Amino acid sequence: MNTMERRYKLVVGILLTHILGFILLLLGINYSFNHNMAILQTVLNVLVIALMGLFLVSAAIVWLIATGKGPLVQRWIFGLLRFGFNFFYSSSCFTARILKIELDVIHRFFAEINNAMVINKGLVVNPEEILILAPHCLQWSNCRHRITNSVDNCTMCGKCLIKDMVSLAKKYGVCLKVVSGGTQARRVVYESSPGAVIAIACERDLMAGIKEADGIPVVGICNVRPKGPCTDTMVDLGLVERHLKQLTKGVN
Ligand code: SF4
Repeated sequence: MNTMERRYKLVVGILLTHILGFILLLLGINYSFNHNMAILQTVLNVLVIALMGLFLVSAAIVWLIATGKGPLVQRWIFGLLRFGFNFFYSSSCFTARILKIELDVIHRFFAEINNAMVINKGLVVNPEEILILAPHCLQWSNCRHRITNSVDNCTMCGKCLIKDMVSLAKKYGVCLKVVSGGTQARRVVYESSPGAVIAIACERDLMAGIKEADGIPVVGICNVRPKGPCTDTMVDLGLVERHLKQLTKGVN
C-alpha cells in the first residue's frame, strides 16, 4: 500500500467516525428527551431517521463515485451529493485540525471527490466555454514576460510548462488564463462566465475555488511543487488533457 492509499484510508476513517459520532449524538439527544414530552420525542425520532438516512446515503454515494464504481450522477441526486460533500469536507477539516493531520491530505481527497462528481455528471461542454485557470507560479521564476495580462506574451521558449499549456489550449480550442491569485481568479471567472473550469492550484486554494464556484463545474488539479510553494511549480499535463477530453466528450 503506498503513502497516498494509506492517507486516503485515513480520510475515509475520519468520514466513518463522523457518521458514527453523528448517529451517537442523535441517539443521545433522542434519549435525553425520552422521559419528557411525547411530541418532542416523535419529532426527534423522525429527525434521527431522516438525518441518518441522508448522511449514510450521501456518504455511500460519494464513496461509490470517488472509487469510480458509481453510476452517472443524476441531476436530482447532485444536490444531495453537494450537501454531503460540503458537510463532510468542513467536518473533516475541523477534525484534522484537532488531530493535527496535514490539511493538504483532506483538501486533495475532497478535490478528487469533487472531480469524480463533476465528470460523472455527464457534462459535455463546448471547448470555447472551457476555461483553464493556471497559477502564476507555473511560470519560470526568471521569466520577464507578463503572462498574467495575456498568455500570448509567452515567447514559447520552453523553460517552463506555460509553453505546453499554451499549446494544449490551442490544440483543444479552450481559453487559458494565468492568474496571480484568488482575487484575479474570481474576476476572470466572473467576467468570462465559463461552462466549466479546469483549475490548477495548491490543495488549499483549489478547494477554496471549488467551494466558491457557485454552480460552475470546476475540475481541480493540484500542482506539483519540487522547489517549495509558489516557485517554479509544475502540473501533470497528461491529467489536464484527460480532463479536457472528458469535458469535451463528443464535441472534439
Ligand atoms: S515558456 Fe513562456 S512563460 Fe515560460 S519561461 Fe518561456 S517565455 Fe516565459
